Order: sequence, then C-alpha cells, then structure tokens
Amino acid sequence: MQTECDVVVMGGGPAGATAATLLAERGHKVVLLEKDAHPRFHIGESLLPANMPLFEKLGVAGEIERIGMEKWGATFVSPWHDKTAGFEFADATDPTMPKAFQVRRSDFDEILFRRAEKVVMEARENCRVRDVSLGGRREPTTVTATDSAGVVHEYRAKFVLDATGRDTFLGNRLKLKQRNAAHNSSAMYGHFRNAQRDCGKLEGNIIIFWFDHGWFWFIPLKDGITSVGAVVWPYYMKARDKPLRQYFLETIAMCPPLAERLKGAELAAEPEATGNYSYSCTACQGESYLMLGDAYAFIDPVFSSGVMLAMNSAFFGADVVDARLKGDARAEAGARAKFDHVMKEGPKQFSWFIYRVTNPTMRDLFMAPSDKLDMKKALLSVLAGDIFGKTRIKPGLYAFRVAYYLFSLANLRRSLAAWRRRAFNIRDDSTMRPARG
Ligand SMILES: Cc1cc2nc3c(=O)[nH]c(=O)nc-3n(C[C@H](O)[C@H](O)[C@H](O)COP(=O)(O)OP(=O)(O)OC[C@H]3O[C@@H](n4cnc5c(N)ncnc54)[C@H](O)[C@@H]3O)c2cc1C
Repeated sequence: MQTECDVVVMGGGPAGATAATLLAERGHKVVLLEKDAHPRFHIGESLLPANMPLFEKLGVAGEIERIGMEKWGATFVSPWHDKTAGFEFADATDPTMPKAFQVRRSDFDEILFRRAEKVVMEARENCRVRDVSLGGRREPTTVTATDSAGVVHEYRAKFVLDATGRDTFLGNRLKLKQRNAAHNSSAMYGHFRNAQRDCGKLEGNIIIFWFDHGWFWFIPLKDGITSVGAVVWPYYMKARDKPLRQYFLETIAMCPPLAERLKGAELAAEPEATGNYSYSCTACQGESYLMLGDAYAFIDPVFSSGVMLAMNSAFFGADVVDARLKGDARAEAGARAKFDHVMKEGPKQFSWFIYRVTNPTMRDLFMAPSDKLDMKKALLSVLAGDIFGKTRIKPGLYAFRVAYYLFSLANLRRSLAAWRRRAFNIRDDSTMRPARG
C-alpha cells in the first residue's frame, strides 16, 4: 500500500502526538505511526508546571486534569540531613505556574494520541516503522512500516519527524547517537498499592530520596497507586545477582524513610528496569527530517523534564515543518535556528544540575536553599521547567552556581572525593566494580 502525504510522524508518544496534532491543525496531511497500541505502559509519570501551557494550547488541559494528581511541588529527603526540604512551584520566579500533574502515562499518552487521531489524515497503532529512505527538498522521503497483521505500508512524504523516543530510529540509522560521556545511570521501578503518602496539598508532591547508590522517586498517582523508582549508578545494577523484584525491594530497604512509607504497601505489578539511558545525537535536524524529544536526547529523570522537553520540541518542530511545507524559506531558516536552540538549551539547563545532584555540596544547597540573590526562586524555576528565557532566572542561577563552587572549594577534600567517585561511577566500563568511599 502506498500513500502520499506531507509529513510522517514516527512514534505516537508525547512528542509525536503533539507534533502530529499541531501540523494537522495547520492544514497539512499528516500520518502518525505508533508501534504499540494505546493505552500502553510507559515510564515518566511526573510532569512539570511548564507542561500546563502546552496542554492549554493543544486543547487537552481538561482531560489531563481529569486523570492527573495535582503536583504543587517537590520534597527532598536526605539521610545526611536531619530534616526534609519542601519546595512549592508557587515560590518560583514566575509564580503564575504553581501546579503540574502526576499522570499514569498509559492514560496520558492515550489522550494525546486520540487528540491527534481526530485531526490527522491517518493514525495507525501497532504499526512499526522499519525503514526510512530520506529524500531532499524535491525528492520525497519514503517511510516503510509493518502493521500487526504483517501488512506493509509505504508512505511518500515531504518531511519526516522522528519521535520514536529511546528507540532513536534515525539517530541509530544515521549513526548520530552518542553515549553521554558525562552521565550514566540505570533505573528500577514499580507501582505500589497502599504507600503512605503525605496529606492535603502535599499529597501529590514528587518525593526524592537520596541514598548511597543514587536516589529514589516517589510519585503519587490519582488512583491511589504510587510509582517508586530507584535511579542508581550502573555498577549497582550490574551487581544484581537475584530476581529484579527481590533486588528492587532490597534496594528500597536501604533507604529507611522510603521503606517506612512502603511498610504496608504491595507491588501492584512486576517491577521493570532500564539501563544506560543517557545519550544524545550529534544533530537534531537534516534537510527533510527533525528529531523530537527522546529521539534526539535524554539525560536523566531526576528533574522530571522528559515529557515537557518532548512536547516543547514538538511545538518548535511544527514551526519548522509548517514553514517548509509552505515554501517560506526565510521563516524555515528562523524556525530551524530556534528549534536547534531549544533542543540544546533544554538538556543543557537541566544537565548542570543533573550531573551534580548526587554531589554532597549540591545536596546541602537543596536541603537548605537560600533565598539570597533569588537563588531559591531560580532553582524553583528550573524545577518547574521554566528554562527557555520567558522568565529572568539567569542572575539567580549564576548566584546559585557561584555558591555551589564556593562551597565546593570550602569543602575541597569532600568535593574531590565526590568528583573522583562520580567519574568512576559514570565511566563506560564493562568490568565496572563498585566505587569505594
Ligand atoms: C527511568 C525513567 C524515568 C523517567 N521519569 C520521568 C518523569 O518522571 N517525568 C518526565 O517528564 N519524564 C520522565 N522520563 C522521561 C520520559 O519518559 C521521556 O522523556 C518521554 O516519554 C519522551 O517522550 P517522547 O515522545 O520523546 O518518547 P516516548 O514517550 O518514548 O514515545 C516514543 C513512541 O515511539 C514509539 N516507537 C518507537 N519506535 C517506533 C517505530 N520504529 N515505529 C513506530 N513507533 C515507534 C514508541 O512505542 C513510543 O510510543 C523518565 C525516563 C526514564 C528512563
């Protein structure tokens, strides 16, 4: 079967479904292909306040509100500090985005996909892209996909969007994907029934617990289920010598404040694990393609930034494709420059914090955040995902960074030990052993 269209969007997660909706609403013939069928499990359940305006623009805010657990902030728990640290997004530099949601991704992704389905020329689930032959400005791009019945679908398009997430379809094909040499981590996660949550407005906060081998997330969902995940250094995952369920539960036991919250809780499904997920591609666009969301880069889940960055990339990506399809070369050049900027700026802003989040100095700063020089406000703006220049957060961020380096210098021995340990932990070495110290 051969179909002519304007754009093929490969992958129907948040990035793909958002881009498909935006382009179809601008009058383009869009085909959206998803290898799974919604609703399907996906990890990545904690959203950011910066997602909210995107939901409004897409017209799905009401539906997300219906399935989402209100998230007004984040709580940090450290075994090296005697009190917890709570943050409210309302205290960020821009207080107009005080809330986000925690969502079951199966429900969330389905809402976005069904939204796209209503407006695109063709939306196909259970249809995996197998091959792409990239064209140019005049020659069409051919996308070949196979559905679950084995039927081969061939699409001839003017443009293709890669939104295949961590499958990084084009990144692999074009050999543009690179391991992130500055970061490396793995995760185990599961859904619990009857976890002990906070009350009232705090109930929906994400809670981050640090522990010896990394950190945990605790994400309360609306239906009473709580998502718990351990993000650990690769050596810790490699040391697993027992079934995942047992290893996961034993890992939780190493973090007493989290174990306390899970005392009467039970796993609602078998836990899952994923490893070495920090990567980026050396380019996010070509003559007839763009890479969106995780198809371009993913660093680490600690700031819950993945879905926001994925949807944001779709908004900026849609401007590029729209200009290209309208034949407006000037608008296309401008949109491409902006797209390139946001694709790099997002991971860059978060990565400075991500690379240091397990550092003792950073922990100290998080556990006792200072309001001086707007440092706390700027930190909260990052936690809210307000990082693309709309709000003036740079002075506060610079102050925060200076404070970090000064405190690191003041505790030089501890800092050097931490840097050495981290360098050891993130290295790409199959014979890796646990770091000492
Ligand atoms: C352990 C962990 C925890 C995380 N926690 C959070 C969090 O709390 N908050 C947050 O915002 N982010 C989190 N993330 C990141 C988040 O999951 C992703 O950033 C986000 O899902 C990216 O969206 P996407 O649309 O780019 O990709 P995806 O959501 O992965 O969607 C890609 C889609 O493409 C489809 N696909 C793949 N290959 C093909 C193919 N060949 N043909 C057709 N379809 C294909 C897939 O089935 C999938 O539906 C976490 C990530 C990890 C690893």
